[in-house]
Amino acid sequence: MQIILPALVLAVLGFGLGVLINFVAKVFYVEEDPAIEEMVDLLPRYNCGACGHPGCKEMAIALLENKNKPADCKPIKKDQIPVIQEYLDNYFKNKKAKEN
Ligand code: SF4
Repeated sequence: MQIILPALVLAVLGFGLGVLINFVAKVFYVEEDPAIEEMVDLLPRYNCGACGHPGCKEMAIALLENKNKPADCKPIKKDQIPVIQEYLDNYFKNKKAKEN
């Protein structure tokens, strides 16, 4: 009997916190541009920081904001640069078309 009450309290507490976390996650959800994740997938994903950004996601954001060039990623394979550049060209073209 001594073990049942603490177990019950922990179970109720765990459930309550789970509901709270779920609620907070839905309230503060920020929709992200899916292009960011697609760009991260095109980068080496080493998160080495050699580009001057803390990780590949930040570099992807900088690329999509036209603040960096694909070659700024130091460990990238040379044949991957045109692939990223083509993606960026299409991205900027579509972005410009949406604005007009
Ligand atoms: S240099 Fe390349 S691999 Fe390293 S964090 Fe920057 S984007 Fe990622």
